Amino acid sequence: MDNAILKRLREWFKKNAAELPWRLADLDAPRDAYAVWISETMLQQTQVSTVRDYFVRWMKRFPDIKALAAATEEEVFKYWQGLGYYSRARNILKTAKIICQTEMYGSRRQRLQDDLVARMPQTRKELEALPGIGAYTAGAILSLAYHQREAILDGNLVRIFSRLYALDFLPTDKIKRDGKSASEIYWNYAREIADSPKAYMHNEALMELGRTVCKIKNPDCEKCPLQGACKAFAEKCTANFPPAKKHIQKDWHGTVLVIESADHKILAVHGGQKFFKNQFTLPHFESPRHATAGLPAQAEAYIDADLVTSVQHVGNFKHNITVHKMDCDVLHICLKTKAPQHSAPELRWVKRSEASDFFANSFCLKSLALL
Ligand code: SF4
Repeated sequence: MDNAILKRLREWFKKNAAELPWRLADLDAPRDAYAVWISETMLQQTQVSTVRDYFVRWMKRFPDIKALAAATEEEVFKYWQGLGYYSRARNILKTAKIICQTEMYGSRRQRLQDDLVARMPQTRKELEALPGIGAYTAGAILSLAYHQREAILDGNLVRIFSRLYALDFLPTDKIKRDGKSASEIYWNYAREIADSPKAYMHNEALMELGRTVCKIKNPDCEKCPLQGACKAFAEKCTANFPPAKKHIQKDWHGTVLVIESADHKILAVHGGQKFFKNQFTLPHFESPRHATAGLPAQAEAYIDADLVTSVQHVGNFKHNITVHKMDCDVLHICLKTKAPQHSAPELRWVKRSEASDFFANSFCLKSLALL
């Protein structure tokens, strides 16, 4: 993209940048890497308008990496509740702990724990090695906080590049053009824009442009600083780009087990499940539709069949996870004994009254709502 267009993009951004709690008034000032990381992670799959308040509350409670690393998973989930995709919150906490414990990331353990200074790594390789930080987030931290010439590529930029260069494929498509994969082609355009001392502003301006002007439906081309370089605009076919995603849906019929002890605690399991592998969830397994008579054999992995007082099919719900269109039966299994004081680390007994706070995904919440 030529320099005149990039200059126009920067000027447009300076005039139109929305005031956001993670953005500084001086758009040329380097931002705090921790704040960039948190805001960009929250913004993945969540609208700016929703993230604003969450970000402000989060930064009040966890103002830096050290404060975050000292928090419990339960508290972090509390501040994340409602944003969905809880693996993001879990990974943020894991990463904060790693950064605080790793000397090479600039953490300096002094004699007093209070003197610990923890910083985000400053290279793509180190950042991408941390849980939950992918190519996009690493690029955002490096460019916005450290002013490095690093590229980003998110849904907004994909849409803009697809229209600017009339690309009739998505980065995830398994195609080759001139020996390059679809992903390489998109990333090359992103790198070209970031190959400038103003990479931080080009990246952020494109995100803003995608959100407010080059929108999914009805792009506002008359207000666009890139109009002179846009192939889709020149050919009057912006609606054809980017091409629609091909969705392959898979049906999944399953059973969810809500196992409740005599003292009203619900069994949560970690790992070994089809969905939510990295968080506590209700036990579940694939089963034929409405195959719900009696105690299923799978329940005996967690409880002794002799302790069961009743098994009741309490209902059915529909749910979608990624490509899975789910149809789930819920079995409520009551035990005659109290929950054990000590269980294996992958099992946890949660008070029924606290279960809706503990389970951080709507799959479990929908199951519990049927009790
Ligand atoms: S001219 Fe229109 S389609 Fe092209 S980048 Fe700008 S807003 Fe998007």
